Amino acid sequence: MTGRVFDISRGCVDDGPGLRTTVFLKGCHLTCPWCHNFEGKSFRPEIAFDESICIGCKTCQQACSRTWSPDGWRIECTACGACAQACPSGARRLVGREITPDELVSEIAVDQDFFEGTGGGVTFSGGEPLSQPGFLFACASKIKKRGIHLAVETSGYWPARYVAKLERWFDLVLFDLKHVDLEKCRSELGTGSRDALYNLESILFSKLAVEVRITLVPGFNDSDDDLRQLAEFLRSAPRRPPVRLQPFHRLAASKQDLFDQVYPFAGLCPTGEERIMEAKELFADR
Ligand code: SF4
Ligand code: SF4
Repeated sequence: MTGRVFDISRGCVDDGPGLRTTVFLKGCHLTCPWCHNFEGKSFRPEIAFDESICIGCKTCQQACSRTWSPDGWRIECTACGACAQACPSGARRLVGREITPDELVSEIAVDQDFFEGTGGGVTFSGGEPLSQPGFLFACASKIKKRGIHLAVETSGYWPARYVAKLERWFDLVLFDLKHVDLEKCRSELGTGSRDALYNLESILFSKLAVEVRITLVPGFNDSDDDLRQLAEFLRSAPRRPPVRLQPFHRLAASKQDLFDQVYPFAGLCPTGEERIMEAKELFADR
């Protein structure tokens, strides 16, 4: 069995307690237009091309076995990675590699002393890590056997039977709650809200530690009415989890050229601190 990973990031402080190694799994079925992880959207490997550091040597073109045109190479690209390997400047990078659970565990086991010293561990993120469930749970079982704290960051759009597996292998769920409004979710995420809300409730019935994270996205979930709906949902949940309200930011704007993508939120202002404070008060009131 292999999984597809697009990054392994060490020393992370925002993905659970202590110092963490975060493993980013490739692929997500949702279509959130504000997503800041271009690399995590597609399930397939792809080439990131940074024109600003390209020296124009054309080594990539010579390395490629497909029909090449300077502007159209993506059309025939099979993401074999040959151009990235040959590129002397690092302008081309293969994003997404196959890895077995054993290989992944040996890559992260070198950090075990840091985990123990800081109360940290491993966090799976993405993309949507539960979109590769076989690989995720195979890795989790091996990591857990080493006594390492395990967290997963998820949007909750997956079959309900995975809750029991999360409970078995994981210590913490960082739940990325988008909205409770069915129609808004349907139009922006490409699917309704029911699966995610049901799964969040099931997780809150379980013994898993949970932190709910809500990114305030302009025009989607940041109005008083949107926030009230979210707060009411959480107030009536089986237990009340800690909630982190975080600003939308435009990290993806800097990545859009790497993947020849258009980022529709590039022109929007990041959520201001004042609005975050207002949202916190609204939640605290409830
Ligand atoms: S990844 Fe392979 S197919 Fe795609 S452009 Fe590079 S060398 Fe050609
Ligand atoms: S090999 Fe790298 S540096 Fe050379 S032309 Fe291709 S992308 Fe640019």
